[in-house]
This record gives sequence, structure tokens and C-alpha cells, in this order.
Amino acid sequence: MDLKALYAVIGGSGTLSSNFPLGANDPGVVLIDDNLQFATPYGLSPVFSLFSVDEKQVLTCKMHGWRSGVSRADASRQIFWVFREAGVKRIISEGGVGTANHLLDPRDFVIPDDYLDFSVRKDVELDGKYLLIMRDSLCSEVRSTLVATTRQHYSGRIFTRGIYANTDGRHFESPAEVAMMKGHADIIGQSICPEVYLAREIGACFAGLYFVVNYGEGLVAEWSHEELKDIFYDDAPMISRIIIDTIRRLPVDGQCSCHELRKETLLKGIYNK
Ligand SMILES: [Zn+2]
Repeated sequence: MDLKALYAVIGGSGTLSSNFPLGANDPGVVLIDDNLQFATPYGLSPVFSLFSVDEKQVLTCKMHGWRSGVSRADASRQIFWVFREAGVKRIISEGGVGTANHLLDPRDFVIPDDYLDFSVRKDVELDGKYLLIMRDSLCSEVRSTLVATTRQHYSGRIFTRGIYANTDGRHFESPAEVAMMKGHADIIGQSICPEVYLAREIGACFAGLYFVVNYGEGLVAEWSHEELKDIFYDDAPMISRIIIDTIRRLPVDGQCSCHELRKETLLKGIYNK
């Protein structure tokens, strides 16, 4: 693959309705190609766009590459195989989330610093060459840049840490499930795992910006589909602008230790061929 991009954005529900990246209406953004597909060992990749922010090249796909007929594990592997081949070093993800913490409200931003994985997708590595250490799994430098940029664009509440509980979906969680997670997690969604593992496997930094769109079932108040829809359409351009400006401010080589947190596996011949 001769394409090179050092930055990547995994688009979620926060930017879906805004035609990312052009929906940000940023004069520094140039769309280079919006119909790229790649043959990967895990099947044909989803469609990617390649764009530039000033001089920086960025690869992006919509909704984690999810599409019918392709398992989420395969969609994730296709995306990260492409990122690795393109030389991606810094990955930003975004999405809408529900709450597990009763202090949170719709339209709060959370930039989590840790996660809990309740998904059952386990076989999601690329080639299993590494022991992945999940300490500081969400890059401190990408996170602090996201926080600073979000503060410039948003006057509402921004939480600079939090725990993201990843469930399998696509349905939302039951009241009993939310009650179990309360006290252990702050937000609930379906799209931080396996991305956080795969980013570490390819030696890239990963962090995400998550916008609260609904209360977890049984918490605070029944959420309304109308409000969820309003957030989906109204706030997407702002989220797009935050991500574009984050890329603009983020150097490609950071001082963080993300790339040191993968070590050669000691289980050779068991998990990898
Ligand atoms: Zn990092």
C-alpha cells in the first residue's frame, strides 16, 4: 500500500450526520479521496476517506466500518490493518454514549482515561505478536489535546477523565445491567473495544471524545428519542470541528509512552503462527 497517513479518525455517531470531515466547514481541510477500499487478510475493508488538515494526512472511516454481513471483529481488524499499513501513529475516536454515573447529563463531554470491556469479542488481534499492556491505554497526550480543543469549542460540561464500559449491543443496556455498572463506570457504549487493543498492537496512540446522548436505563430520568435525534443532527458539526482542531494541535511524535506498552509475546507458537 503506497498510501501514507500518520493520523486517523474512527468516526462514530457523533459525526455521522455531518459528512465528516467536510461538515466541519474548515478552510484548512482538503478531501483527497473519499472512496478508498483495501483488500486485507480479513476481507475487503470499509470505505475510507483520505483528507488533509493543513499539511497532515488523515485516514477516516464512518461508524467503525460496521456494515451488515461483516462481524464487528472483522470490521475492526480490517480498519487497523489499513492503519498499520498506512503508518498511522495517532488515532482519535468519537461517539455518543449513555450514562452509568448519575451525575452526568445529555450533552456532557467525557474524555475517558480507562475502560471496562463487557464485550465477548476476544479473537480480535491482528497477528498476536505482542503482549499488550493496557496501562495508560488511552493516550494522555491525545486526551489532553482533546480536552483543550473541546474547551475552545464548547461551553458546556467537559469531564477530563472517566471510565467507559464497553458492551456488545447493538441494543442498549437493561436497567439491571446499568445498575451493575454504576459505581464502576461512568459512560456506556459499544465502540472503545477492540479498538483500544488494536491501536496498542499497531503501536499507535488512541483516545476518544464521547458525547452523552442518553441516561442509562433506570438512572435519573427516562431519556427521550427526540433529544437523542436532536443531538445526533445538531451537534455533529461542532464535534467535527473539535476533531479537526485536535489533529491540527497534535504533534505526530509525542512524549507519551504508548508505543512502549507492547512487548514481544512469550507465547510464541500458541497464539501466533
Ligand atoms: Zn500516546
